[in-house]
Amino acid sequence: MTRTERIRALQEEYARQRVLNEEALDERVRSAEALDPEIARLRGQNLALPADALRRMLATNDEDEKRRIAEQMRDTGIANNAKIRARLKKLGLPENNLELSYRCPICQDTGYVGEAPARFCECFEAKLRQMQFEESGLNKNPEQRFEHFDITRFPEENRQRAEMRGYRRHCETYANEYPNNAVRNMLITGAGGLGKTFLLNCIYARVTERGYSAIRVTAFQMFEAMRARHFQTEDAVDQFAALVSAPLLLIDDLGTEPMMRNITAEYLFLLLNERLSARLHTVVASNLGPTQLSERYGERVSSRLVDQAIIMHMQGKDLRAL
Ligand SMILES: [Zn+2]
Repeated sequence: MTRTERIRALQEEYARQRVLNEEALDERVRSAEALDPEIARLRGQNLALPADALRRMLATNDEDEKRRIAEQMRDTGIANNAKIRARLKKLGLPENNLELSYRCPICQDTGYVGEAPARFCECFEAKLRQMQFEESGLNKNPEQRFEHFDITRFPEENRQRAEMRGYRRHCETYANEYPNNAVRNMLITGAGGLGKTFLLNCIYARVTERGYSAIRVTAFQMFEAMRARHFQTEDAVDQFAALVSAPLLLIDDLGTEPMMRNITAEYLFLLLNERLSARLHTVVASNLGPTQLSERYGERVSSRLVDQAIIMHMQGKDLRAL
């Protein structure tokens, strides 16, 4: 998908959202009016106000009279709305229950803000950035989810199965509690074939199903975004910014990306540091242990990988070799 195609797809999604908003409002109106018919009468009166006022204005040539009619229309409308709000409150409903509500109050789900030339709302930009990664990384493994987690695949010897059960519980709790986690970050280390990627995909599936947005990348995709940012390639500035600002970022296979001077460690530091200070959630899986991470990226990066993080060090037999 090109950027233009992504924009078009997103505009359609926003249009659908606006229809949903209208439908949700209709539903709220219907149920409030069913609970209190007086609300229906007041709303009906409000709807008829402009036509009534116009009819009366056309019947007179007196300018003062016309002004009085206009003021009366306005005052009746305001008074009716106050009555409606009071009645809603009595029903235990929010006072703005009969107004449209939006996913994004800033752009009211249009995706645009400002006068001509309008620009994309931040919510729209964020979704655009997210889409770039969704095409590549995302939902490639829809079957990898907690519901499909088969603990019997893990050998019982050396407590591998018991430990895995614990890791799974940690990860599922993390995904269920997101974004209100007591500890925001997670570092999962251990040799290949122990199920790290699977756990990462499970977290991703659960969090996004709960309606939150997240970006899941391999370390190589992350590196590509960094390199593009470094060399100011078009589109790529966007990609790195998306990684920095994603509410939840899942990085798989950290340590397998190329180690390029002035790029890998430097941008990784920038990324982790920005995310820590913005209090965003980051989950990292790596074949490297804490010491190796420190050797590869330096102390500054490795200390940020473990900062405010749940650390899980997986051990055991490679499942792929069983
Ligand atoms: Zn918006």
